[in-house]
Amino acid sequence: MSFMITHQTPVTYPGPAPAQADVIVIGGGVIGVCTALFASRAGHRVVLLEKGRIAAEQSSRNWGWIRQQGRDPDELPIMVEAHGLWHELATQTNVDIGLRQTGITYLAQTDAHMQGYTDWLPAARANGVDSKILSAREVAAQFPGMQTTGIKGALVTPSDLRAEPWVAVPALAAIAAREGVQIIENCAVRMLGIAAGRVAGVITEAGRIAAPEVVLAGGAWSSLFLRNHGISIPQLSVRENVAATEPLPDIHAGAAASRKVAFRRRIDGGYTLAPPGAPELFIGPDAFRAFPKYLAQLRADPFGQRLLPFAPKGFPDAWGTARRWAADQTTPFEVTRILDPAPNRRKINRLLRDFAQMFPDLPPVRLRAAWAGMIDTMPDLVPVVDRAPSLPGLTIGTGMSGHGFGIGPAMGRVLAALATGGDVGHDLQRFRLSRFGDGSPMRPGPNV
Ligand SMILES: Cc1cc2nc3c(=O)[nH]c(=O)nc-3n(C[C@H](O)[C@H](O)[C@H](O)COP(=O)(O)OP(=O)(O)OC[C@H]3O[C@@H](n4cnc5c(N)ncnc54)[C@H](O)[C@@H]3O)c2cc1C
Repeated sequence: MSFMITHQTPVTYPGPAPAQADVIVIGGGVIGVCTALFASRAGHRVVLLEKGRIAAEQSSRNWGWIRQQGRDPDELPIMVEAHGLWHELATQTNVDIGLRQTGITYLAQTDAHMQGYTDWLPAARANGVDSKILSAREVAAQFPGMQTTGIKGALVTPSDLRAEPWVAVPALAAIAAREGVQIIENCAVRMLGIAAGRVAGVITEAGRIAAPEVVLAGGAWSSLFLRNHGISIPQLSVRENVAATEPLPDIHAGAAASRKVAFRRRIDGGYTLAPPGAPELFIGPDAFRAFPKYLAQLRADPFGQRLLPFAPKGFPDAWGTARRWAADQTTPFEVTRILDPAPNRRKINRLLRDFAQMFPDLPPVRLRAAWAGMIDTMPDLVPVVDRAPSLPGLTIGTGMSGHGFGIGPAMGRVLAALATGGDVGHDLQRFRLSRFGDGSPMRPGPNV
């Protein structure tokens, strides 16, 4: 099983691009792919443009947790819809995307964690989600080989899912292509085409495409793209490290997280591991600009992020990254076709040690692969899902804040409806673009 989608991955969708479409989607991650799929299902001619390869950035690098548990109450109804869509879409692919209903468990080491879980339960109940609290004794029974000293209990959602992201998102793209979406890889969108004060299409590195509606699902690049059009969002990117082990005995079929280790079983019998929390923020101009908006998050969790002085060359918030360009200039999107941060080896080694200590009876835990991804995060840990008032014809779906894989199918359905005048079916007030400019206090989502 190959975990990474890289420059060496063959181009599946070479183009050429058509001259026009009804809807253009920028970004071939899970959000863009699902938006394109549902816009096409609603009867529109859709073009999906990806600067590198489908799912090469966050959408293949994530842990593969499809999680209702611990969600912001305003996201939860959309996530419940996504849960149903995952089941449906998995039957429409030609491959096993690894979708399994094996549950997600959060292990609590403190009474404060337990209280946080208990406080979140009413949101689950209100949305018909089967989350429940486990006692320390029940945890020990459910995780027989696990070192449970100090564990106070847990929050578990048995209906939560897992899937293999690097298989699942390309498989969703294949459904979209089969149903008529024109996908083009290696095709960066330089900027929006604008006529008479509204969106008229896009200008790509390969030329113009006309369309009355454009959806931006650019992940970690969205803020940079929007700033060139005078729209500012306080989106930042943080590095998260991931390790994949060689196959191991089946210690737990689902996904779980303690303070030190998050783990998920894969269909190849290995485990995907990550250190939960403490993501790494590379400081750049955007970080300085966005700092005031992040104060509420910093106050709630002062040591929640590790700061690093500058991002590697070519990253969205690197000091040397161009902030302004014209349509005939090479853009940062062509300079970095795949955002591929090097993993922090020290953290990866510690992670393997922590996992082995957590399950002391396991045979030696061997590393099969390690990688990192840049999570696009927002000050309140919920995305922007809105139409841009200053640019009619532009819809924005970005800032999924580390939990966009699971919710992807329903966010795509919502964004497609938003762009084409369909029924969005959910209250999107919490995700409005104007919250960053209208004096609204930042209200970080639940940190459970
Ligand atoms: C390590 C890690 C672990 C995670 N774990 C989970 C998890 O377990 N569960 C979960 O739900 N979520 C998880 N997430 C978060 C989840 O992966 C993301 O929220 C989700 O993939 C975001 O999807 P996206 O489509 O918005 O962005 P991306 O997947 O980043 O896709 C954006 C795409 O847009 C393209 N693009 C950008 N600008 C342009 C342009 N100008 N022209 C053309 N193309 C462009 C990029 O090349 C990129 O491919 C995790 C993320 C990481 C990094």
